[in-house]
Amino acid sequence: MLFPGLAEPYDTTPVLRARLLLQPAQGRSGSKVQQTKVCTMGLFTGRKGLVLGIANERSIAWAITENLHREGAEMGFTHMPDAGDRPKNQNKVAKLVDPIGSKFLLPMDVCNDEHINAVVAKAAETFGRIDFIVHSIAFAPPADLTGPTWACSRNGFKTAMEISAYSLLAVAGAARKQNVLSSDASILTLTYFGGEEVIPGYNLMGICKAALECSVRYLASELGPEGVRVNAISAGPVKTVSAMGVGDFDDMLKLYAGISPMRRNITADEVGRTAMAMLSNLTSGITGEILHVDCGFSVMGAPPADFFTPPAQST
Ligand code: NAP
Repeated sequence: MLFPGLAEPYDTTPVLRARLLLQPAQGRSGSKVQQTKVCTMGLFTGRKGLVLGIANERSIAWAITENLHREGAEMGFTHMPDAGDRPKNQNKVAKLVDPIGSKFLLPMDVCNDEHINAVVAKAAETFGRIDFIVHSIAFAPPADLTGPTWACSRNGFKTAMEISAYSLLAVAGAARKQNVLSSDASILTLTYFGGEEVIPGYNLMGICKAALECSVRYLASELGPEGVRVNAISAGPVKTVSAMGVGDFDDMLKLYAGISPMRRNITADEVGRTAMAMLSNLTSGITGEILHVDCGFSVMGAPPADFFTPPAQST
């Protein structure tokens, strides 16, 4: 029940917005409604959290943020630290999050424990406890990502693993150590099918995603007794800065549109909406889960027959 303590009536619309209709008893039972007071509450009204991994308006983390904001969440954000005097990264993210009432925006490189601890301390100072963390971060050095996995360098492997997998453990660990997670907090990360099966071109990042997905399960097991849930969304391809560095992205989009049961690609907003649900108490019984938001691509063992059928020629 979304509003325990409130007897009735309420309905939950398909867009997950809780709408509370308060009517006087006479209005409900009698013929004439004297007064109808409509009070709209978002699913995240009163809920607070951290969003990590917005680079620009195409970022999946931004699509998630837009959905959380629409439902009333209060959020703090991070950006990659800027080199030199020009606050380029900071400005890019501030341009997006300031207009939606960001509670703070701090620099954070996940390779730096001091940065992570400072962000978590700021969240504690600002919010007390937090109800959610969005971890939407990945990186591999291009030279190590584009070649075959057997050719990747030791340092490239370490960097990719540290940023793309270890960072989830580090962020969750800092939040746990600083006791900032609420008793029903939800942590969500982003992964890709290339961590489960071989997707040519995904290479080293596939190995990182496998480690990330395994980290989700261990974290879920360790933090579950405290009420904290940890899940991942395995998203289909979405055109973002990171995605453009992986294989031939346009071919990938064509492949997904041709093979997926729904014969199309997903949108960033579809990931954003699912993420919002995973971070909310609508999914209070789900943890350790890798949820595919991919129009069903991952269930296919072979392409459908129409994948091989050339489009009919018009005469
Ligand atoms: P994106 O917009 O480029 O987001 C990636 C973010 O990671 C950027 O904000 C980037 O910051 C940040 N980052 C990289 N290194 C970092 C570090 N050392 N410390 C802190 N932040 C760092 O791309 P995206 O596609 O939305 O990616 C978000 C997540 O979704 C990734 O985990 C990705 O693997 C996953 N995913 C994406 C797709 C897809 O098709 N797009 C599909 C499935 C899963 P800067 O850009 O400022 O360096």
